[in-house]
Amino acid sequence: MKNFEYIEPTTVAEACALLKQHAGGAKIFAGGAHLTILMKQGLYQPDALINIKKIGELKGIRERDGRLVIGALVTHRELETSPLVKERLPVLCAAEREVANIRVRNMGTIGGNLASGEPLTDLSQIFIALDGQARVTGAEGSRTIPVEGLFVDFYTTSLAQDEVLTHVEIPSLPARSGIDYIRFSTSSVVDKPAVGVAVRLTLNSKGAETIATARIVLGCVGPTPVRARNAEALLAGNKLTPGLAVEAAKVASQECSPSSDLRGSEHYKRAIVRTLVRRAAEAAYKQALALPSVKELDAGSK
Ligand SMILES: Cc1cc2nc3c(=O)[nH]c(=O)nc-3n(C[C@H](O)[C@H](O)[C@H](O)COP(=O)(O)OP(=O)(O)OC[C@H]3O[C@@H](n4cnc5c(N)ncnc54)[C@H](O)[C@@H]3O)c2cc1C
Repeated sequence: MKNFEYIEPTTVAEACALLKQHAGGAKIFAGGAHLTILMKQGLYQPDALINIKKIGELKGIRERDGRLVIGALVTHRELETSPLVKERLPVLCAAEREVANIRVRNMGTIGGNLASGEPLTDLSQIFIALDGQARVTGAEGSRTIPVEGLFVDFYTTSLAQDEVLTHVEIPSLPARSGIDYIRFSTSSVVDKPAVGVAVRLTLNSKGAETIATARIVLGCVGPTPVRARNAEALLAGNKLTPGLAVEAAKVASQECSPSSDLRGSEHYKRAIVRTLVRRAAEAAYKQALALPSVKELDAGSK
């Protein structure tokens, strides 16, 4: 690695000023799980590293006005083990248990996970399905971006050069909602996912079994996570029958652009998308109807 300046600001304002001063030559360093690898490979050669770990305002998970607020410096492990997250959105804890390995989960942060723009990740799909918002601050002020709007291309986000992602805000799950996330790794369980699918379904409020809102988010099967909007439209206004789940899954598998690589061919990944969308939709629907899941039924019979 080439020599670089190393700076430890203690406020977001200071970090933004440093980013602006270095005009694209500096990189934020959070857990370093992603950045260190790319620097060792010579893909990033920053002239300054801005370590944000001493910025207290980026830490912690809290509830504010009914929203879950997750600081950019929260690690995967903190999210996995947070009692507040377990109570409010257990889907996040369950997903985190399958992220990488314990070493990466202890180092890697939520901010780094999103801001890297890395396509083979898990959390963005869930945040998008939950209508999560990213709060970012730059030298000129702060703004809010829907998490979906963060991702532009492979390893490219909509963050400006002087912007720091400060936290993610997740609204409360509406009543009569269910959400499921399923990821599939082809080489080993600790590998990055080959496909990761989040489905959130919200039913109509008046005791009906029809779906009011559907979110189907496909990850790892294109440069950015993508909402399968045609499949979502198929579900809206209907009850989820087995036939409709199969049809929506088929449509969703045509709304992504997987590449053939070491983790599987394009054809294979589309087939996995079909299976995961169907399963996640069925699980989310059961949750929304407050029916026991297959796992709960199995546990009850023992
Ligand atoms: C072996 C391995 C396995 C992995 N497996 C998975 C997996 O299964 N699922 C998954 O989701 N992810 C996986 N990852 C990715 C991992 O989750 C992310 O690399 C990690 O969360 C990055 O966080 P970090 O704090 O280490 O980021 P860093 O490496 O410090 O930074 C990553 C990038 O984001 C920028 N950045 C960091 N924080 C901010 C911020 N607050 N504002 C603006 N820019 C910022 C940095 O400048 C850099 O460009 C894996 C990574 C490795 C190395």
